[in-house]
Amino acid sequence: MTTPVFGHRSADFVELYQSVQPRLQELFGTADPVFISTSSAWGVMEGALRNVTKKKVLNCMSGAFSDKWHDVSKRCGKEAGALRFEWGQPVDPEAVRRELATGAYDSLTVIHNETSTGTMNPLADILTVAREFPEVITIVDTVSSFSALPIPKDELGIDVMLTGSQKALALPPGLSLFSVSQRALDRAANVNDRGYYFDFHEFLANHEKGMTPSTPVIPLIHALRSKLDDIFAEGIDARHERHRRLNTLVHDWVKSRGFELFPAPGFASVSLTCVRNNLEIDVAALNKILKSKFSCVIDGGYGKIKGKTFRISNMGDETDETMTQLLANLDSALAEMKVTVG
Ligand SMILES: *Cc1c(COP(=O)(O)O)cnc(C)c1O
Repeated sequence: MTTPVFGHRSADFVELYQSVQPRLQELFGTADPVFISTSSAWGVMEGALRNVTKKKVLNCMSGAFSDKWHDVSKRCGKEAGALRFEWGQPVDPEAVRRELATGAYDSLTVIHNETSTGTMNPLADILTVAREFPEVITIVDTVSSFSALPIPKDELGIDVMLTGSQKALALPPGLSLFSVSQRALDRAANVNDRGYYFDFHEFLANHEKGMTPSTPVIPLIHALRSKLDDIFAEGIDARHERHRRLNTLVHDWVKSRGFELFPAPGFASVSLTCVRNNLEIDVAALNKILKSKFSCVIDGGYGKIKGKTFRISNMGDETDETMTQLLANLDSALAEMKVTVG
């Protein structure tokens, strides 16, 4: 990131942009272009609606981020339907089918990994259903699951797949990456009021020249290139395996200490663990000890399940060493709080 900044219309930039493209396409599992947006994920989550929703969008809702996407749809002036599930429950593909069968919708939003509840949705099953409805453009958020497990965009038939830099990719915040199918581009061409900053066709036209529509955060694209070097040096399969292994380590800790997983059985995320605080520990006090004694923190729960849950991430760059250390720190802090576990 300390590489001196060059102009975003320079040959140096085109070289940088084009150098990350093939590896991004491999990670997205796509032959479509992967666009780079200087925004956090919400920019593209909002922008995607502006590009593809003409009639009405169906928002699958089962946690803080997916619930908010419904609110954002309405704030963009879109007709929006709410398909609600209890937090911690997965999106039910049959319910998606019933709702899409009304014929009211031309787009669908799904969050693959609902980070607020640590719940991973059955993406392949949801997309199999969505593809029964040719008019429906699918928008899938993979912010906290991208590169933690295979999410082959083209094979699954995802139209718009997006991720952000600061979660599963463990980069600093500020970038979003997204890939758009031809079907979605065709839809966008017929939608008015796409705006400028997130207009898919602006991205496509500039992509063909190895550039972005407006000035991008070039230091972060250098960081992205460096991260891709790391990911491919480790190997994609090894990266996926590492996420599974470290996630199992956390699950084992949770169960052996007498805690429970928050998500419905079979739908726990592989990139983070949302723990039900069934032992009713003081999570804020726990974090205070973790921070002062071990210079680390965990998440104390999100939104309406704050305090009732806590979350432990194993995404991105975590290793056996860092996760083992974190779990040992948790044990020490719980002992200091005189909490009896296990
Ligand atoms: C964090 C997160 C977002 C929002 O990302 P921003 O970078 O704050 O825009 C969206 N979706 C999911 C699943 C997330 O975890």
